[in-house]
Amino acid sequence: FFSVKNIEKSYGTGSAKVKVLDGVSTELYEGEICVILGPSGSGKSTFLNVAGGLESIDGGSITIDGQDISKMDPKSLGRYRRDKLGFVFQFYNLIPNLTVKENIEVCAYLSKNPLEIDELLHTLGLWEHKDKFPNQLSGGQQQRCAIGRALVKNPALLLCDELTGALDYKTAKEILALIEKINQTYHNTIIIVTHNEPIKNMAHRVLKLHDGRIVKDYVNETQLSAKDLEW
Ligand code: ATP
Ligand code: MG
Repeated sequence: FFSVKNIEKSYGTGSAKVKVLDGVSTELYEGEICVILGPSGSGKSTFLNVAGGLESIDGGSITIDGQDISKMDPKSLGRYRRDKLGFVFQFYNLIPNLTVKENIEVCAYLSKNPLEIDELLHTLGLWEHKDKFPNQLSGGQQQRCAIGRALVKNPALLLCDELTGALDYKTAKEILALIEKINQTYHNTIIIVTHNEPIKNMAHRVLKLHDGRIVKDYVNETQLSAKDLEW
């Protein structure tokens, strides 16, 4: 369903050129949750950004649902991103002068096939907060709203970068439990970049990056050892 082959990505030019992704290849099945671990600077965010077509690659290919997005022209890629992909980042990127419900609604308008918003608000545990503005919400509630914005278009692939990075351990666990529930309800394929340990017991796949290469690839996270969570 999602496959990347030999991705190469560098930043800078000449002697300042730095290779950030160095021949990354992997494949995910539809409906899998994949967690990406690795030290700071190992290329996790870059991987997520190129996987979602936010940044170009220097070599290799990225195929999502049968389409090679690395070969699309900018206009088709823009449309593809809008229709098929959802992004959630560490900082919630909510629109401050819109309520929770309105924040989600504006994203629904962009979609051909949006989820039912009231139902989604219940799934997210935001029903009683739907008329609040972002500055009236806790961090966890803001993140749930940001997840709602990405999810309302029912994306085939949901890409999350450090989505629990700004939250305490307990709230982070709740957000990850929500992601698991979303995966079971809507069957989206989900890639999560994280530093956090509470990802244990939820991932179908775990990839560990180091210096732009995949150094571990587990099909089942019970194979993870404590050592894999330190670097
Ligand atoms: P962290 O855990 O700290 O978020 P990361 O694994 O997500 O780290 P990346 O953000 O992918 O790491 O960065 C990988 C490397 O690429 C870093 O050395 C970084 O400095 C460099 N890099 C990232 N974005 C750019 C950019 N736009 N221009 C130049 N270098 C960049
Ligand atoms: Mg990062």
